[in-house]
Amino acid sequence: MIRIDSVTKRYPDGTVAVDRLSLEIPDRSITVLVGPSGCGKTTTLRMINRMVEPSEGTILLDGADITKQPVNTLRRSMGYVIQNAGLFQHRTIVDNIATVPRMLGWGKERARSRARELMERVGLDASLARRYPYQLSGGQQQRVGVARALASDPPVLLMDEPFSAVDPVVRKGLQEELLRIQDELGKTIVFVTHDIDEAIRLGTMVAVMRTGGHLAQFAPPAELLSA
Ligand code: ADP
Ligand code: ADP
Repeated sequence: MIRIDSVTKRYPDGTVAVDRLSLEIPDRSITVLVGPSGCGKTTTLRMINRMVEPSEGTILLDGADITKQPVNTLRRSMGYVIQNAGLFQHRTIVDNIATVPRMLGWGKERARSRARELMERVGLDASLARRYPYQLSGGQQQRVGVARALASDPPVLLMDEPFSAVDPVVRKGLQEELLRIQDELGKTIVFVTHDIDEAIRLGTMVAVMRTGGHLAQFAPPAELLSA
């Protein structure tokens, strides 16, 4: 479990992005952070993998303060997926996905074979393996981003508006794929979106944030009070 305990983030210019946020993110489910642009969702997500350090408060992973382990160890346990996938443009699809296993010291063929398995898992046709990112549609690129984040089999997936740049029909397909992956692999997923419909569709738990970095509600979708 990830436990965010009374965390505040004040950026150097004085902006309070997150204000005394407390949240318990259960294992093996999808917790969605939802709210308007600028309410502190990305900041919260980035504090979980220490791309951003809290000004106050602590974050615990399985009971241990995340600052007590080396940051690289922490990040290896957390896949990260962003909008537009952030793929390496000069690497083929299979080698994009194989990047993390290669960094972990896997041989090239073993890493590529793992990558091809993951392509299948996220619904990418094997014929795309040797293409480059620019030769794929936006939705296909997002699938590659998800596959790459899964490549080292991390228990946690952090996803920052991963599907917001694709059209609604493709987005629905990606959402269904994510629910299926979650069901099969049992990852702990923290998913950021500004789209309440997406939050309701995907969330096991939904954390509604509001401007100023406050938590307004934290509940399963069926129990959310309409604002
Ligand atoms: P969201 O993901 O909900 O759009 P963010 O976490 O990106 O929100 O941002 C929360 C607030 O913090 C916003 O007011 C934003 O402008 C501000 N902010 C984000 N990053 C920085 C930064 N590096 N320096 C100063 N302010 C920032
Ligand atoms: P390199 O060792 O420079 O990556 P290779 O000759 O091994 O070059 O491969 C050339 C390209 O073909 C690679 O970038 C990779 O995308 C693709 N490729 C090679 N082997 C495989 C494989 N087993 N499965 C899928 N794609 C492969």
